[in-house]
Amino acid sequence: MLPQGRNHIREVLRENGVTVGDLVEAPWLEEVRARGRLRLLESVMHKDGVDDATTVDISSEAGKMTETLSFLHAMLVVCASFDERLLARWIEGEASRADGLFGKDVTNFSTICSSYLSGIKIEEGDDMIYWVPVSDFIELCPKISGTYWRLANRPVRNGWVRMDPASGENSRERTSRLLKERVRGYLDSTCRQRMEKMSDEFAAQFSDPVERIIGMLALRVKEEMPVSAAVREDWPPCFESAVSELNQGVNVNHVGRVFLASFSKALGHTQEQTCGFFSGAPDYSPDTTSYQVAHIYEREYTPHGCAALKTNARCPVQVGDDSLCDQEWLTHPLKYIRAKQRRRYNDSGGSDSSS
Ligand code: SF4
Repeated sequence: MLPQGRNHIREVLRENGVTVGDLVEAPWLEEVRARGRLRLLESVMHKDGVDDATTVDISSEAGKMTETLSFLHAMLVVCASFDERLLARWIEGEASRADGLFGKDVTNFSTICSSYLSGIKIEEGDDMIYWVPVSDFIELCPKISGTYWRLANRPVRNGWVRMDPASGENSRERTSRLLKERVRGYLDSTCRQRMEKMSDEFAAQFSDPVERIIGMLALRVKEEMPVSAAVREDWPPCFESAVSELNQGVNVNHVGRVFLASFSKALGHTQEQTCGFFSGAPDYSPDTTSYQVAHIYEREYTPHGCAALKTNARCPVQVGDDSLCDQEWLTHPLKYIRAKQRRRYNDSGGSDSSS
């Protein structure tokens, strides 16, 4: 997460002959993906950020590679989701992790500071006291709450602000809190640059881990996000047609119904919302519907892909009807949703908080 990290990641990829395609599916990189998934999961599940500790032995070359590439994998999954909430949570998790790690790193702390601040001064003594340039402090402190972070409450001398120990933290740990804001800004701009350049086809390669993490996110923040990030215009034609046919009392076949329920679950809808889609069915029975929908929610059914839907007459589009469905890489309706969200994100200039 240091600005120098970008070149380091490139080096690691080059030295190990790894391409982004390998990162997605090469069997020998499974450990990298598993570690990346874990880091992502921690950022979603742990409200207060990711655990500082790593289970990877980073004294070995293989361990260093795993740790470095897992970070890249996690970042690519986040970017490929085009989901603002996931992006914000991941950044918070990684920035908190950096805060914790930097604050403990006595040996490298001044080098780290010089990567993020325009300078750093150390006052040697029983306890080392750090001074940061007033310009950095003024820029970063409005983002942190608490009286400690108001300039009027900090000793200032010749353009330097003294970072006294406070709230159970030593001077280094307090300074590290400032660095956290720079890490946050750095990760945010890096991810947004990647998202702007990311094509549908590239993003589609990460659809499996994206669906998994979005599912976890939906569970974690159910209270604040009762309905999934996807809005109705993002729905693929196969889902839209199943919903509207049932709504109009048209019979939908078994595959269509299972697809509707499992896809609705993947969108983060509650069981009640999903049951609601069936209320217009000609053979509607509330008890049978809730029983069958509960079964699908419990069994973790994965929604059908395009091939199965086409075979079972549940794909309503012909070539030319929908340019997204015509794409060769569009093999699953969930990829359709992600591509739509990406477009909406880009159209809104990267500020759409509903995507
Ligand atoms: S091509 Fe796939 S995503 Fe598009 S409507 Fe058909 S099944 Fe759905």
